[in-house]
Amino acid sequence: MEEIFDAAIVGAGPAGLSAACILADRGVKVIVLERGEYPGAKNMFGGVVYGHSLGRIIPDFAQKNCPMERNIVESRISYLSEQSSISLTYRDQAFFEQLQNNAFTVGRAKFDRWFADQARAKGALLVCSTVVTDLLKDGAGRVVGVKTDRAEGDLRARVVLLADGVNSPLAAKTGFRPEVGPQHVALAVKELIGLPEEVIDERFGVSAGNGVTNEILGNVTMEMNGVAFVYTNRRSISVGIGANLADFAKARVRPYEMIERFKTHPAIAPLIKDGKPLEYLAHWLPEGGFETVPKLFGDGFLIAGDSAMLFNAPHREGSNLAMASGRMAAQTVLEALQRGDFSSYGLRGYGERMAESFVLKDLKKYRRFSSLLENHRELFTTLPRGAAEAFREILTVDESPKKERLRGARKALWRGAAPLRLLRLMWDAWRAIR
Ligand SMILES: Cc1cc2nc3c(=O)[nH]c(=O)nc-3n(C[C@H](O)[C@H](O)[C@H](O)COP(=O)(O)OP(=O)(O)OC[C@H]3O[C@@H](n4cnc5c(N)ncnc54)[C@H](O)[C@@H]3O)c2cc1C
Repeated sequence: MEEIFDAAIVGAGPAGLSAACILADRGVKVIVLERGEYPGAKNMFGGVVYGHSLGRIIPDFAQKNCPMERNIVESRISYLSEQSSISLTYRDQAFFEQLQNNAFTVGRAKFDRWFADQARAKGALLVCSTVVTDLLKDGAGRVVGVKTDRAEGDLRARVVLLADGVNSPLAAKTGFRPEVGPQHVALAVKELIGLPEEVIDERFGVSAGNGVTNEILGNVTMEMNGVAFVYTNRRSISVGIGANLADFAKARVRPYEMIERFKTHPAIAPLIKDGKPLEYLAHWLPEGGFETVPKLFGDGFLIAGDSAMLFNAPHREGSNLAMASGRMAAQTVLEALQRGDFSSYGLRGYGERMAESFVLKDLKKYRRFSSLLENHRELFTTLPRGAAEAFREILTVDESPKKERLRGARKALWRGAAPLRLLRLMWDAWRAIR
């Protein structure tokens, strides 16, 4: 007789593995299908994972040898022009002590494998090197399993969780996910640069496994709507940069040109000097925000993580939204199994949980954020230079009266953006984050 799983999960990323851990822990017969040779083989991200979200899946993750690189104790936000850098830095003793592991860096190849091992230890079945090619539906259009690229690859399940990441043709096939256009995704590239641990410690002013994140905005994205980052790992530095896919197409810039240029910036080059390139990866990011989040469940299926466009762009959070949505999807599946109802009505608890959680609340709060960046191109073109020149005016000491210096600074800033445009930017920014 054909085997029927209680739940089939597509994708062994943070969303899928969170759901698998919770379901397997409760004795549910769950299978995870992953296209990579092993979990993490095809995955890339900046590197920051959040302890609270992971702790809700695996409370003792630190004792279970979670492959953490560095505990983040300092966060920097920088605004870069061609030659300058304006930064805001926050370092807090609390992140060394009671808030340790609030945020920490990981490498996906190791982290996803470790996460999958936790799911397997709880009883989940993981099948790698398997691409899910389609959804299996019954005569009434209900999802009753998945089709895979294996011979005799149809697999039946009471419920299917789509956790297959941002480029999800499966989510599109549910008919729920709105068409994801190039304006809704960013293309990011990342280079991992190897350096001795003590060199990284010294360059970032940390020690004993602590680290720093630096989120970067300005004209380093070659006038495209995008961001860059520098994160510390134990013995490497992650340097990444990305921009809206539609902008890449228009500007005809190649991602590797952008990252090569970024690495030579005077604020970045000293951090990675004499480093050894270890890895170069590219990936998409869902940046469409709240408006592009699909209906999250239907007859026989749920959608979680990047596949549901759950990415908090202003805070650069995605892994925690993936883990939380995977967790809530699993909790809903447990209820559905009890009731034996896998219809859209039976799975509605997922939508309710998500609406009540930080995931959709945060995305809704920031729903104007992507249009803020889209409508204020000066942020990536003229304003970085104007802001830098304004600071230079103020900080250059000669014998000219300060009144003149301040007037010079004001004029420099206005060369970056005219006064009315600046007011408009401030108003739109306030509306986008309030
Ligand atoms: C450059 C970059 C930097 C980022 N930085 C951060 C950061 O620092 N912190 C943070 O929290 N978030 C960050 N993110 C976002 C974060 O990576 C994602 O939000 C998160 O990984 C989403 O998890 P997921 O499980 O939904 O999807 P994914 O991690 O994409 O996992 C999906 C899995 O499904 C598999 N899969 C796909 N299709 C199929 C198929 N048809 N059949 C079988 N398997 C399939 C894939 O191989 C993959 O293993 C970043 C993203 C990028 C691109």
